[in-house]
Amino acid sequence: MPNAPYRPRWRSLALLALVLAPLMWPLHYFAERYYRGELLEQNRQTLDLYVANLSGTLRRYEMLPYILADLPPLRALLAEPDEGPLQERANHLLERVRNETGADVIYLMSPQGLTLTSSNWDQVDSFIGRDFSYRPYFREALAGKHGRFFGLGTTSRKRGYFFSSPVWDGAEVVGILVVKVDLDDSERLWGNTPEQLMVTDSNGVVIVSSRPDWRFRATRDLDNVERAAIVANQPYPTQAPAPLQLNDRAWLIQSRGLAESGLAVSILAPRQLVDRQVSTALAVGGAALLVGLLLLGLLLQRRRHYIDRIAMDAGARRELEMRVLERTRDLETLNHRLKDEVLEREQTQQELLRTQDDLVQAGKLTALGTMSASISHELNQPLAAIRSYADNAGVLLDHQRIDDARGNLRQISELTGRMASIIAHLRAFARRDRHAPESVALQPALEDALALVAKRRRALDVELIRDLPDATLWVQAGETRLRQVLGNLLANALDALAEKAPPRRIWLNTEVTEQGVNLTLRDNGPGFSEQALAHAREPFFTTKTSTQGLGLGLAICETLMRALGGELLLANHPDGGALITLQLRSAAPGANLHPPEEFS
Ligand code: ADP
Repeated sequence: MPNAPYRPRWRSLALLALVLAPLMWPLHYFAERYYRGELLEQNRQTLDLYVANLSGTLRRYEMLPYILADLPPLRALLAEPDEGPLQERANHLLERVRNETGADVIYLMSPQGLTLTSSNWDQVDSFIGRDFSYRPYFREALAGKHGRFFGLGTTSRKRGYFFSSPVWDGAEVVGILVVKVDLDDSERLWGNTPEQLMVTDSNGVVIVSSRPDWRFRATRDLDNVERAAIVANQPYPTQAPAPLQLNDRAWLIQSRGLAESGLAVSILAPRQLVDRQVSTALAVGGAALLVGLLLLGLLLQRRRHYIDRIAMDAGARRELEMRVLERTRDLETLNHRLKDEVLEREQTQQELLRTQDDLVQAGKLTALGTMSASISHELNQPLAAIRSYADNAGVLLDHQRIDDARGNLRQISELTGRMASIIAHLRAFARRDRHAPESVALQPALEDALALVAKRRRALDVELIRDLPDATLWVQAGETRLRQVLGNLLANALDALAEKAPPRRIWLNTEVTEQGVNLTLRDNGPGFSEQALAHAREPFFTTKTSTQGLGLGLAICETLMRALGGELLLANHPDGGALITLQLRSAAPGANLHPPEEFS
């Protein structure tokens, strides 16, 4: 499995930060915009409310001096200013009006600026007798206009807004009526909030503020005329208001002007409020992004692993296929080679069979060659005997010894019979037998062979002990050849038994094996001598006298058995006597349809 390349953790983190940073900018931008907008909207509403309240208050008192100017008690006083009861009446009237309207102070001045009557007539800081002619509202009203003025009460030190109106007598101004509105109350309305309130007058000087340290400070530069007016009118506790520098970066400022009064109301919201919310949003957003990125990373990693696995599987499969292909190719080559080899073997085998056949034939010829001496000896002997018998028979006939001559002739006849027998055996031995083996029933063939030797067996009183199955055993053989082999073996057994005293016995056994059928012949004769065991199969080997044996029996048996694909085994039984085994191939049961083999 290919290992994922190792990446140090700090590098991954740096990469993550690099990816996060550009994503945080837009988040910061939008969060800032959103929260600032929200704060501004909220403060705008507060500002609207405050402005409505303030302008409502001012408007309520705006026309009051104008209306009061027509009241008869006041006019009466103006006509006779020194009249005590008139003043007292006016004082009570103004006090009552003040109580009902909620104004701070209402007072009436003479055209010279002297206060004739006042709603605070009974208080320590009563305005009665005081001169306010230096105030601009007095001058404005004296000029026949409605006056307005902000100023600090000279005795009360309370901030107030002054409305003034002339009292007309025809075209002449006979008095000035003034209503003072307390502004301290409007400041007290402001709660303890992070946002700050600020009301500035036409000079840009703060007259009302939730921040006491901002009061009576100039938010803009004052020109000389304004400064002179301030000195003359004394609206503030100071004659030169200190500048107020508000940092735009620290405050979000919203302002609204009140057209008639020249006042402006501002709400200042600390930017911190927005920054704090933006930071929270950034933290939450950043965390969400981080989680998202990590999940994405995880997903990508899993995908990569999956792809790697697929690639690996494909590789392994390809390799396996290659190997299978290689193996198949190898096997095909091997197969071809094997086929060639099989073909070669078959050819070689055929050649070998041919050669073997030739060799057998050649061997036979060689054997015949080596036999020729023995044969000539075997045949010359009877020939010489025949000649001598014939010659002798002539002499006997000459002497009329007819019986003797007949005896000679019988000898001659026997000898020729023997010679014919030798020749017949030799022919059988030398013949190239091309008959294919066929299915032969074993028991009947054995019965036939036994029948051939039955007479001699009875003469020798040989007991026959058979242990054969009832069911027919089918073997691959030629019927005549098998009978000849069995006959030879039985004849040999009888020959051997004849050499010993009774009891004489022959055992016949069969055994079915995987390879075929084994037939064993055992006798209780003297058994094979050591030399006979080694050479009995060779042609002309015999331990019998020349009249008894030719030494060809077992040699022929061996040749016939081999031709049938079987084998002839010679041994001695542990209890004595010869033990001969015929190994025959088993065959499919069937009737022998071929005509019996001719053997001559
Ligand atoms: P022959 O019978 O003419 O001698 P065989 O080839 O049949 O020729 O036998 C060769 C020799 O094998 C015999 O001479 C004998 O010595 C030995 N022989 C064969 N069969 C037996 C047997 N059943 N018991 C003992 N010896 C045997």
